[in-house]
Amino acid sequence: MAVAARRVEERGVRGDLVCGLCGRTAARIEGSWGARFVPRTIRIADAEHEAAVRRLRCPHCRGYLTLDNHEEVYIPRGPLLDDHASLVPPPSPEGGG
Ligand SMILES: [Zn+2]
Repeated sequence: MAVAARRVEERGVRGDLVCGLCGRTAARIEGSWGARFVPRTIRIADAEHEAAVRRLRCPHCRGYLTLDNHEEVYIPRGPLLDDHASLVPPPSPEGGG
């Protein structure tokens, strides 16, 4: 019987941080699904805007950023479940063979 390898996936959310005043997208974020959202990745369009984005303020007009255009995603996490070989370190060259 063939055993299919299965990757552990985590339910997540991906979306844009968009300014409520000027409508510009300041960053794209991705993180775990849950009662308390903690972003795992933040892609800021312009590196100079990092400080403003971290305060959830628009770097252009100081408006508040909100999550928009969000979608549910499944984020791969860790090694393949049935790929036991990937969990075992390779044999040392001195071990013979
Ligand atoms: Zn703005």
